[in-house]
Amino acid sequence: MNKTTKQPKDQKPVFECEYCGQQTAHKSYLNHTFGRVPNLIVVANVETMVCGNCGQSYLEGEALAAVDAVLKQPKKFTAQHSVSLAQLAA
Ligand SMILES: [Zn+2]
Repeated sequence: MNKTTKQPKDQKPVFECEYCGQQTAHKSYLNHTFGRVPNLIVVANVETMVCGNCGQSYLEGEALAAVDAVLKQPKKFTAQHSVSLAQLAA
């Protein structure tokens, strides 16, 4: 208990947020949807930066390029899956 540990092992790495500039962004793997029904594309497990300070979530670098590639040639990268889709009346 006398030791002072500077960096606890279990601490998640944090990054500087692109929006608010605070060291409060962390990586998270989220599903993103693009387009709209019936041409909806879901990209699963996208490495996403999520800021705990301002709440922004955004893609960076490789993840952004990978998603761009999918959206440019959706047929090449997507497989048809059955998805439960609910649409609320506008
Ligand atoms: Zn932020």
